Amino acid sequence: MSGARTVAIIGAGPVGLAAAAHVLERGLEPIVLEAGGTVGHAMRRWGHVQLFSPWEYNIDKAAARLLAATGWNSPEPHQYPTGAEMVERYLEPLANIAALKPRIRTSTHVTGISRTGFDKLKTKGRETAPFEIRYQNGKGPETVKADAVIDASGTWHSPNPAGANGLPAIGETEAADRIAYGMPDVLGKDRARYAGKTVAVLGAGHSAIGTLTDLAKLAAEIPETRPVWLLRGNDPAKAFGGGANDKLAARGELGAAFAALVTAGRIKVESEFCVSHLFVDGPRLIVGAIAGCSARRAQVDELIVATGFRPDLDLVRELRIRLDPAIECPIALAPLIDPNEHSCGTVRPHGARELAQDEPGFYFAGMKSYGRAPTFLMLTGYEQVRSIAADIAGDRAAAERVELELPETGVCSRPLGPDASNCCGGPALSDVDACCVADEKAKQQGKTGCGCAS
Ligand SMILES: Cc1cc2nc3c(=O)[nH]c(=O)nc-3n(C[C@H](O)[C@H](O)[C@H](O)COP(=O)(O)OP(=O)(O)OC[C@H]3O[C@@H](n4cnc5c(N)ncnc54)[C@H](O)[C@@H]3O)c2cc1C
Repeated sequence: MSGARTVAIIGAGPVGLAAAAHVLERGLEPIVLEAGGTVGHAMRRWGHVQLFSPWEYNIDKAAARLLAATGWNSPEPHQYPTGAEMVERYLEPLANIAALKPRIRTSTHVTGISRTGFDKLKTKGRETAPFEIRYQNGKGPETVKADAVIDASGTWHSPNPAGANGLPAIGETEAADRIAYGMPDVLGKDRARYAGKTVAVLGAGHSAIGTLTDLAKLAAEIPETRPVWLLRGNDPAKAFGGGANDKLAARGELGAAFAALVTAGRIKVESEFCVSHLFVDGPRLIVGAIAGCSARRAQVDELIVATGFRPDLDLVRELRIRLDPAIECPIALAPLIDPNEHSCGTVRPHGARELAQDEPGFYFAGMKSYGRAPTFLMLTGYEQVRSIAADIAGDRAAAERVELELPETGVCSRPLGPDASNCCGGPALSDVDACCVADEKAKQQGKTGCGCAS
């Protein structure tokens, strides 16, 4: 990519803004295009949620260097911010830096990316044609050109539906006013909607257990509130996480506190509940599950769907993109993050090599780069964009270098041996497709699958 000058970055979330800082440091010209009216638009939607990673893991190094030059007071590294604090204390000051501010366009919704004069079919010379990024900003379609593109547009705006088969459940659209997606603020601005109600939460990830924990707190204040946990799997304990083994203590504690609420019977649990249909019956919302699991119903007032997110791939339709068919992430990344293969959520750091596409100069980064996989950490995204910016600038050595060691989740189905104080014995050293030492050894012995799975 040497010779590239202008880099379009889609999304002004933490990873998009970090990308802009790295691109700037490389002497290149970033243009950040953000659909929302402000930076951190998606993060503001979950502003009430406390992060499970402390400040020391949430700030990109190039961004910190830019901020330090302005006299910015960096937050206490061991404290845990909320999403709103992340925006207020980090993303907004970063976006207001003189070098970045004029290069960020908000209320700019990217609708498509192509190459000037080249539709997807045409090959000869396409690698040197600039990218054309089409966007809407309320004035009709506009276009900006760039030599490289980093798509850091996240997945927040495309949540998975309730249907266990990945399609919207029958009746889901019609029952929309009784359904919320993601993490509504049940103790704050959405309190009136949920207080005193029977509220089902569908899902088994951090968002689901965080919301259920908050609903249990609401029930302690308003006893008529009844939290119901609907999960597709048959083992609720799988959602409890790594507990004390989790190197991110707050993430471990969240799971442990949730386990205690379930054990105490403060959350009703409906496992093996595969939602197939929904309908409103008088004052109640009926959530129906069928075959594959048992056929049964939950009668509730409200449903919160927290079944994860998927990438919006419409905007890259005209580019030559190869994605893993299941995870919808770059092919080389899939073996590192496939939740079917990895019992432990620890993911090796990676960069431009894994994220590059057949379309030279185009990269996915951040939450979107993980497709449907749920294990993304901001720290991973910061390492991604450091490596991508180096790649675009033509610094291959820096692009290849790994400059990050990630905290482990402590979630592993493999029993720990006497010498293994860490989950799976720590991150793998050499094999790029291995998530940990156990996996690396297994792969070196020619075994397939994840070596850390029991
Ligand atoms: C509730 C919750 C808690 C989390 N907690 C943690 C945590 O504790 N620690 C951690 O490391 N990670 C955490 N994560 C995961 C992840 O790090 C965050 O989601 C993080 O915000 C991802 O950053 P991002 O920049 O990739 O995407 P986002 O923050 O989602 O930013 C993407 C931006 O792109 C914009 N956009 C989308 N589409 C377009 C378009 N077509 N055109 C222009 N702009 C567009 C969006 O409006 C948004 O502002 C959490 C995630 C969630 C949902």
